[in-house]
Amino acid sequence: GHPLDQFLPLTKSDPGSGCQRVVMAVPDENGKETTIHCEVSHSPIVNRDNQRVGHALLARNISETIRDRADLKQQIRRLEEVTKFAPIGIFHVAMDGRVTRANSELAWMLGYESPEQLISQVTDFASQFFFDMARAEEFMVGLFEAEKVVKFRCRIKRKGSPSSAWALCFARISYDKAGKVNGYNGYAVDIRDTVKAEKELKAANEKLTALSMLDGLTQIPNRRKFDEHLEKQWYSHVRKRAKLSLILCDIDYFKKYNDRYGHQIGDECLKQVAKAIVESVHRPYDLVARYGGEEFGVILPGTGIEGAKSVAEIIRKSVQNLKIEHGDSSVSPHVSLSLGISCLIPEKKMGWDVLISRADQALYEAKASGRNCFMVHDPDK
Ligand code: GH3
Ligand code: MG
Ligand code: MG
Repeated sequence: GHPLDQFLPLTKSDPGSGCQRVVMAVPDENGKETTIHCEVSHSPIVNRDNQRVGHALLARNISETIRDRADLKQQIRRLEEVTKFAPIGIFHVAMDGRVTRANSELAWMLGYESPEQLISQVTDFASQFFFDMARAEEFMVGLFEAEKVVKFRCRIKRKGSPSSAWALCFARISYDKAGKVNGYNGYAVDIRDTVKAEKELKAANEKLTALSMLDGLTQIPNRRKFDEHLEKQWYSHVRKRAKLSLILCDIDYFKKYNDRYGHQIGDECLKQVAKAIVESVHRPYDLVARYGGEEFGVILPGTGIEGAKSVAEIIRKSVQNLKIEHGDSSVSPHVSLSLGISCLIPEKKMGWDVLISRADQALYEAKASGRNCFMVHDPDK
């Protein structure tokens, strides 16, 4: 039903043999007219005398191939759209370190105006992407050795800026048609806000922890900090087989002080006493804490009994020297302290509370022997 000139370039004097594509209208199985794409090969038929007696035509329906190709183009376009506007950096790096594909997000993250500018200017991805070269090497080794997705958090460079940004990256090696490694594909997620939030949270937590370790009234470490520090020092002294000393200080007749001068003045007194004790110890790991109401604990790492006695006397004198009037004290006209000292080389089998109970016993003896003095725990008692 189709004229021959639809298939053959008959206008030419001698069409010879050849191949061309034509679009044909043909009826489908329901008799409805439909168009198909055909690839038609034609060749003249000659007789023995070499006279042309006709044409052989071979028509192949290539509609499906053409449709597939169009679909493929459309899919590629869609993929390009998705990549282009993706909120994460997407890239491919060749074996020589050049970027072969990049999207706008990656360009923006690295401080380039466009993906094209990035592609033309990045000649060695690892050194132009990573802020820390050691991290770049770690990444390359991991990537080419593991052959699986490598996930890592890193600081990345920004073009023309000395500062860095943070990214979470995923990468995997890529292969060419022949199955040979030809580089790697990667994704980079901008996590600057996350890292900033994490830092703020960490700082807030540290602040909170520090606050939870401080006594609200005197602003010196509280009982919780005291316990934590003593436990730590205890185990470190077990290892070092070194002497650890503890002084417990208790204000004399403080109930009477409160009764006479009032609770508020009592609080002020506690603050001054705390300050005087803190100022009496100087070594980096020494710790003064408010142990209880009008009791203070002084931890003296690496200190023997003689050292602890001299610190106790300095503390006692410095509180006396505050000259805080105490009209109802039977031992001194001014606020005074009684102190109990314990000192030992911690052993694994002992509990660290033994140091406290011994200092407490010594404190009890100081109270019993008249107050405003220190006593050392006597292991024979
Ligand atoms: P001693 O010489 O035997 O130690 O007698 P004391 O009166 O100091 O001891 P006691 O344990 O009988 O009383 C301690 C007093 O310390 C009771 C309480 O009113 C006072 N105190 C405890 N904590 C605080 C505080 O935070 N502020 C004030 N103002 N007083 C406190
Ligand atoms: Mg007390
Ligand atoms: Mg007391």
